[in-house]
Amino acid sequence: MSRADLPAAIEARGIRRIYAARPAPIVALDGIDLDVPAGEFFGLLGPNGAGKTTLIKILTTLLAPSEGWARVFGFDVVRQAKQVRRVMNIVSGGEQSGYGILTVREQLWMFSQFYGLPGRDGWRRVDELIDAVGLAEQRNQRVSTLSTGQRQKLNVARGLLNDPWILFLDEPTLGLDVSAARALRALVVDWQRAVPGRTILLTTHYMAEADELCDRIAIVDRGRVLAIGSPAELRRLVHRESIFRLEVDHLDGGPAVLTRLPGVVAATLAAQDGAEEAAAGAAGQRLAINLVLADDAALGGVVGALGELGSRIVALRKAEPTLEDVFVELVGRGFEEAAVEHPADEVAPAPAIPPSAHAPGEPEPEEVAR
Ligand code: ATP
Repeated sequence: MSRADLPAAIEARGIRRIYAARPAPIVALDGIDLDVPAGEFFGLLGPNGAGKTTLIKILTTLLAPSEGWARVFGFDVVRQAKQVRRVMNIVSGGEQSGYGILTVREQLWMFSQFYGLPGRDGWRRVDELIDAVGLAEQRNQRVSTLSTGQRQKLNVARGLLNDPWILFLDEPTLGLDVSAARALRALVVDWQRAVPGRTILLTTHYMAEADELCDRIAIVDRGRVLAIGSPAELRRLVHRESIFRLEVDHLDGGPAVLTRLPGVVAATLAAQDGAEEAAAGAAGQRLAINLVLADDAALGGVVGALGELGSRIVALRKAEPTLEDVFVELVGRGFEEAAVEHPADEVAPAPAIPPSAHAPGEPEPEEVAR
């Protein structure tokens, strides 16, 4: 079966989830529609309380929606929960599953038995995964003595034991240092790319991580999807103007002379050499200018005008907006303000998942009934 023949990894329509709470019920999800094709690395970004964990709980069968429906690889998350659990797994940041007194190998073997792997296959798979996640040296070390990064590698190995088609990663690099986070990202990317159709749904508060990893991202807030698209599409959403950083050897009259040109929205001084010696724009002085244009086409007029004014362009580069800019514009506040480091919530790996020896490209035919 080719990748194009696979059912969507996630299909959700009109998902609402209302928690009974005092003094008033809380609408955690307010009509979520989502389509994630098989093989996609999909990101869910949103401030604290946006509803990400609630959505993941619904998609991983840990919580029922109040309204709407969702399917994971064609299986209904409510009516076919058992089949959904067979094809998915979840790894959360700061997860402390298992027993510290066991060794890495023993711990994974214990989980392999929860997932229903036969004894010998279980040991083989455990050893393969220990090598794959880079824990060979810690194979016989007690889990309680692992570093945070090593423990998270162990959690990923646990999450791959049942050979899932879709892996939910809920803030997987929470609390990891730069190199441990990088190693973990490389690990999950390698896993995903190894077999066409393997799918990842990632939630993270780290914008750069989402930008680097995700094919597409949904920005959610207050239980709704505010925007969805590739990182590049999202950036275009908020930045309709083109921003350039321009450096010239001098510019008589300073940046103000550029603002009179057609298509120039703004031209402001960024930084300059020898600022203390001369006023901005004096002859013989190198200038750095932030240039905002209505569109890229206006650049030609600016370059021409600078030539006529006798200014030489020393450097010119386009300043790309960041995902953080998108987030701020859509959500109304910055990610740093919105993000609070917190321990992983109670989402536990779904127990007793039988083994799934087949790749997403080869679903068991009778199970893919729609
Ligand atoms: P974070 O980034 O902080 O993990 P989140 O996007 O995962 O946030 P959720 O945990 O899904 O957000 O919470 C969405 C809303 O539902 C919040 O207002 C939260 O207070 C509320 N909520 C979540 N779980 C429950 C619960 N068990 N009972 C009542 N309200 C809840």
